[in-house]
Amino acid sequence: MNNPSTAPTNSNYDVAVIGGGPGGAALSTFLSRNGHRCIVFEQARYPRYHIGESLVPHTYGIFERLGMLPQLRASDFPVKHSVRFVSPDGKASLPFYFTETIQGDGARTWQVERSRFDCLMLDHARASGVEVHEEASVEKVLFESGRAVGVQIASKNGVPAEVRAKVVVDASGHACVIGRQLNLRCSLPELRKATVWSYFRGGKRLPGIDAGETTMFLIPGGGWFWYIPLPDDVVSVGLVADPEYVFSQSDDMETAYRREVGRCAALSERLATAERFGPVRGSRHLAYVNRQTCGDGWVMIGDARAFLDPIYSSGLFLALGSAELAAQCIDEALKSGDVSAARLGRFEGPLMKGVESVRRLIHAFYDPQFSFMEFTKRFPEQRRALIDCLVGDVIKDMSAFTNALAQMTPPPPPLGSNLPKPSAPVAAGA
Ligand SMILES: Cc1cc2nc3c(=O)[nH]c(=O)nc-3n(C[C@H](O)[C@H](O)[C@H](O)COP(=O)(O)OP(=O)(O)OC[C@H]3O[C@@H](n4cnc5c(N)ncnc54)[C@H](O)[C@@H]3O)c2cc1C
Repeated sequence: MNNPSTAPTNSNYDVAVIGGGPGGAALSTFLSRNGHRCIVFEQARYPRYHIGESLVPHTYGIFERLGMLPQLRASDFPVKHSVRFVSPDGKASLPFYFTETIQGDGARTWQVERSRFDCLMLDHARASGVEVHEEASVEKVLFESGRAVGVQIASKNGVPAEVRAKVVVDASGHACVIGRQLNLRCSLPELRKATVWSYFRGGKRLPGIDAGETTMFLIPGGGWFWYIPLPDDVVSVGLVADPEYVFSQSDDMETAYRREVGRCAALSERLATAERFGPVRGSRHLAYVNRQTCGDGWVMIGDARAFLDPIYSSGLFLALGSAELAAQCIDEALKSGDVSAARLGRFEGPLMKGVESVRRLIHAFYDPQFSFMEFTKRFPEQRRALIDCLVGDVIKDMSAFTNALAQMTPPPPPLGSNLPKPSAPVAAGA
């Protein structure tokens, strides 16, 4: 294992990655295995806290290709076989079991404690030959004639270090290092949601294979709670709703959280004998996107590209999926000696198909006129595609599905079409 405090062993790398979360760890693992010299800078010292604990089954193939399945199988992370919805009046749907569309071992996935899961992934990157530096914060990306050529790292003694690389990957999550530096990041006006969440010990678990399910408790007005069982009898419980609703009575997250958990009778019943611990965390504005997600010598992956909404637990899948697709493009670009935006950005097309299907389904979920039951009655041939979205199998052509959706809920404006104008000119050489 690298000593986090040691300086980079070289000043020149093939790929410099900002952020050692799941996206950065996966991308660097794939590239290192293909013989590219990769360095990852992670500002935190692991293990560190992170939200985003429920995986979708379609991550299975990515874990298999990464060689991570043995670690996951050996873990005590609860196994997730299904998802269930509980309506505002407390009626629980039948569980949706992933075996309905997936055969074999890949029909299950895991609920992960992120501090430990992210360590597993970063350790796996190290074991695959990646040079990882923790407590190393990237201050900015270095550009020459509009092309990214490396990164500047903050150092403890105040003297910044520069590391050069042929390709810079922004995997910094919602910190969006490149997005902020180039003024590309903006919030999505049509997906305004806030969230507050915390943890309980001793919340009720369902019997048998349902013990690891994600339960979604819907509340009147379009909000919802997640209920995600984690190791050590811990359950993660969080609310997502309009910011005006969550913070209607005060700006205080603790008060808002207590009030809303208390109001949701079916959820309170599960938590009747549980004890809350730790702080209430939250965010007022979840959704954002960058106007541009690659350039000459650089790409963004995972949450550094965009984050829409946690409703379908797609964040980790999109982080890992974009990491794998971007790694393939970077590999080809490095081998051809062409790291232009056009070459590096070839992964965008397939990825955006997946992002768009998920986005359309998010809009449908929050449309009070839309009903999934009605949709599957009217378009029975689309049930399979709907399930594909729920398990994360979305990086493919889903136009028949999105066309059917459009007949029951108006499609949102194309992604990026109504973004606020940048406040300052975008400086590619910034
Ligand atoms: C409320 C909520 C609930 C969610 N629930 C789910 C869920 O159930 N399932 C799911 O799949 N997803 C969920 N997500 C989304 C999920 O958390 C993210 O999609 C996922 O963590 C993205 O991974 P990443 O590797 O892109 O970024 P991250 O996991 O955020 O990793 C980025 C890393 O970059 C580091 N970093 C940042 N800035 C710098 C810098 N300047 N220099 C060096 N390092 C830096 C950070 O310390 C961090 O370790 C949820 C998100 C929210 C907000």
